[in-house]
Amino acid sequence: MPEPRPTPPAILTYSQSSLQDYADCPRRFQLRYLDRLKWPGVETEPALENEKRQVEGQLFHRLVQQHLVGIPAERLEKLANTPDLSRWWDAYLHHRPELTGYTLYPELSLSAPVGGTRLMAKFDLVAIHPDGKALIYDWKTYQKRTRDEWLAARWQTRVYRSLLVQAGSHLNGGRPILPESIEMVYWFANYPDDPARFAYTSAQFKRDWSAISRIVEEIAASGSFPMTEDDSRCRFCPYRSYCDRGVVAGDLGDIEAEAELDEVFDINFEQIGEIEF
Ligand code: SF4
Repeated sequence: MPEPRPTPPAILTYSQSSLQDYADCPRRFQLRYLDRLKWPGVETEPALENEKRQVEGQLFHRLVQQHLVGIPAERLEKLANTPDLSRWWDAYLHHRPELTGYTLYPELSLSAPVGGTRLMAKFDLVAIHPDGKALIYDWKTYQKRTRDEWLAARWQTRVYRSLLVQAGSHLNGGRPILPESIEMVYWFANYPDDPARFAYTSAQFKRDWSAISRIVEEIAASGSFPMTEDDSRCRFCPYRSYCDRGVVAGDLGDIEAEAELDEVFDINFEQIGEIEF
């Protein structure tokens, strides 16, 4: 007998990825988070090349995280042992953010209640200055530089900044982190001198948090999760065969599809395993 489908409130924790899925295609949200279907289809071609990129991206995140917690660069260098990793690592060492005076919180998880459930995010790095300035860093290993306009509209940009306001006061000595003191930076390993920077305002925070609350309530009340009308979203979706939207995966040459995949394969350090020195 098939397992009963969990009702939406059974999703205890939302993330930028699940909100993005719901925004891109309610059906994808349903298949992934309610039906909990594994990925039945190759998302992009060539599959092996994409898998290699994913693994290298995860290893790069791990190297930076280890460096930020104090492991000397010389000990980490030998682990950057592929051409891409070596280039990214070199870029990081020469163009990494200057954060003197900041307290660093690498690989930080924050969560806050919303609509009877929780919203959670895992940050690559949050840096807090004693004067209250708060920086969010997200490392990206995309082959091409994503457009700022596209990044600004992504749920990651909206969730990370609003969640830091909502749940970050303990990082700031118990004082609230003001939206105006937050900046989110996407740092591109292939474009290390061209990061994308997003400031924040109280008006944006109000808009973001009320949108998140509204969507969570909408999902909890919804009995219907229609397929997107925008077929282009299906090219890189693993559920194409469930929806009769084609069986051939898209080509990863599309830059924003590459960025979307980054979220699909959300960085998970537990899956990467420990680095041995
Ligand atoms: S294949 Fe298309 S319609 Fe189906 S879940 Fe994916 S994005 Fe939605």
